Amino acid sequence: MNNIYVDNNATTQVAPEVFEEMKPYFCDLYGNPSSMHSFGGNVQRKVVEARERVADILGALPTEIVFTSCGTESDNAAIRSALECFPEKRHIVTTRVEHPAVLNLCRHLEKHGYDVTYLSVDAEGRLNLDEVQDSLRSDTAIVSIMYANNETGVIFPIEEIGLMVRQRGILFHTDAVQAVGKIPLNLRESTIEMLSLSGHKLHAPKGVGVLYVRRGTPFRPFLIGGHQERGRRGGTENVASIIALGKACELAKDHLNEENTRVRALRDRLEKGLLENCPDARINGCTDQRLPNTLNISFEYVEGEAILLMINELGIAASSGSACTSGSLEPSHVLRAMGIPFTCAHGSVRFSLSCYNTEQEIDYIVEKMPGIIRRLREISPFGATVAS
Ligand code: PLP
Repeated sequence: MNNIYVDNNATTQVAPEVFEEMKPYFCDLYGNPSSMHSFGGNVQRKVVEARERVADILGALPTEIVFTSCGTESDNAAIRSALECFPEKRHIVTTRVEHPAVLNLCRHLEKHGYDVTYLSVDAEGRLNLDEVQDSLRSDTAIVSIMYANNETGVIFPIEEIGLMVRQRGILFHTDAVQAVGKIPLNLRESTIEMLSLSGHKLHAPKGVGVLYVRRGTPFRPFLIGGHQERGRRGGTENVASIIALGKACELAKDHLNEENTRVRALRDRLEKGLLENCPDARINGCTDQRLPNTLNISFEYVEGEAILLMINELGIAASSGSACTSGSLEPSHVLRAMGIPFTCAHGSVRFSLSCYNTEQEIDYIVEKMPGIIRRLREISPFGATVAS
């Protein structure tokens, strides 16, 4: 069996329906949506429709949707806007397990005199809500906490956190790049003031994202230029991708039920099959509050990268929880923050599914993995200690 793609938290296939929808907006309908003539008008109408479709999956108003170039830009725009709106407030609260789009921006801001609190997580990847409460200060400009973790799939209690934050009159942003399209969201009855999403995580193309900005939330644009996006983001719109994102949101809304039934069942089948057939395997992250498509599993005493290379030979594409830093394999910041033991963190693999995966593919992975893990353990420097 060839080409089994189970790395959907990294990026997703553009859905064929999405590609069809965006195609005319390259060579035929190429007008600038800001133009007065009919070339512009035809495009403008589709951008309006896309905005409505994105608003619909979020339970938001179309006017609350700001199109951006990616999830990273949305995260940067949210945090920088808060700092600009409240220049006297120089404290930010975030977590140790955020995506680099937030973490590295915060580290950069620290070098420019801002104070950042990085909330810790427990061994299951959960936040301590008392710690969140205690972190809030009179000079906190913004709290930015992800909705769901990209590596483990752990979902944070965002509404509860938002309530605490809002009660203190502090702006609340969530990076929901991994959550949108996988679990239902309703911003109409929500404590979230700003939210980031990214097209390529939900079967739209790379290079398009959204920042949701709740009506009435103080906001300063990150990209200053033309009047696009009601003055909240300058730059001629990436029309074809915006239209694609609108269609992808419409499809994702229709598939939410499937995501939480069929995709979840496939993930659970994979998890059960691997735990039953591979000794010394353990799940990373709490399993009761987790994205339906994500499985982060460690195989003790082997390198995740070695597993990836071997499964890649079989046409299976997944991710590991290690990154190559200065020539050596370092467990990811997320697994380190969770305090996962060294021998486990190194052997972690993330499988992230989509509605395009099949039961046959999952069974093939379950069939092949035990032999791969056994072979790698035989040659592992820790191999002698492995119980078989
Ligand atoms: N936030 C999270 C949680 C992500 O998983 C990602 C991408 O992996 C991003 C932000 C960045 O999104 P983009 O690739 O669109 O910049």
